[in-house]
Amino acid sequence: MDADVVKRLQADLQERLARLEAEVAELDAEDRELLSEASGENAYRDHMADQGSATFERELDMTLEENVRDLLAEVRGALARIEAGTYGTCDRCGSQIPVERLEAMPTASLCVTCKEAEEGR
Ligand SMILES: [Zn+2]
Repeated sequence: MDADVVKRLQADLQERLARLEAEVAELDAEDRELLSEASGENAYRDHMADQGSATFERELDMTLEENVRDLLAEVRGALARIEAGTYGTCDRCGSQIPVERLEAMPTASLCVTCKEAEEGR
């Protein structure tokens, strides 16, 4: 693979990583906030209460948090593959993943054929 392309995608991935880590930190902070709210001493989130029940909000947070953590794992995996020199190679069949696909989705670890096969399970 073109080293310049890999470098560019690596920079992009590192930027995503920083953003996702910040999001996770924020979600963790919210978790602590919710805990202190449960003990009845948090006035800050009171204005959020009229946007929906606390339970619904909590479930939403959980889904969001799972998504963020999944994405974080994907980005870390992609960066690890760059380090290992296996980036851009399909995890399943070992064929080269087209650059256009990687540019559209830098965390892709499967070629389109294998991805479709996996989703069609
Ligand atoms: Zn493949």
